[in-house]
Amino acid sequence: MSDELNDLYQDIILDHHRRPRNRGALENPSSVGEGFNPLCGDELTVFLKMDGDKIADVKFTGQGCAISQASASLMTLRIKGKTVAEAREAIADMQALLADEKELPIAIEERVGDAIALKGVRKFPARVKCATLAWHALASALAGSGKVSTE
Ligand code: ZN
Repeated sequence: MSDELNDLYQDIILDHHRRPRNRGALENPSSVGEGFNPLCGDELTVFLKMDGDKIADVKFTGQGCAISQASASLMTLRIKGKTVAEAREAIADMQALLADEKELPIAIEERVGDAIALKGVRKFPARVKCATLAWHALASALAGSGKVSTE
C-alpha cells in the first residue's frame, strides 16, 4: 500500500469499516434514504427514527468500499440524538470537509469529530463520492425523497 493510500485509509476509517457503529435496519423507521454510487458500486440505506424534531435513532445497511461504509458509521455517530437542523449542519460540514481546497474553519473541524479522518479523501476526487454517499442518503431521508444517486 502506498503512503498516499495509507493516508487515505487512516486508522479511524479502518476501525469504522471493521466495526461499523449503528449498522443494521431499523424497524418501523420514520424515514428511509437510499444512496448509490455507480462509480464505485457503493450502496447505502439510512434509516431514521424521529421523535418530533429529534433523530431518536439512526441505522444503516449497505455494501461497498471501506470509505463508504466507514463514512456511514461516522455519520450515525454525528447525528444520533441531534435535531434536523443539526443534521443538516453536519451534512454541510462534510461537504466543506470533502469538497473544499481551502483551510477548514476551526469550528467545523471541532464539530465533525472523528469524521475528520475522511478529510484525506479530498486528495482522491474519485473517492469523494464514496465518502459523501452516506450524507447524501441522510439528506434524502431528511427530505423524505427516498433514493439518490451521486451521478
Ligand atoms: Zn466506494
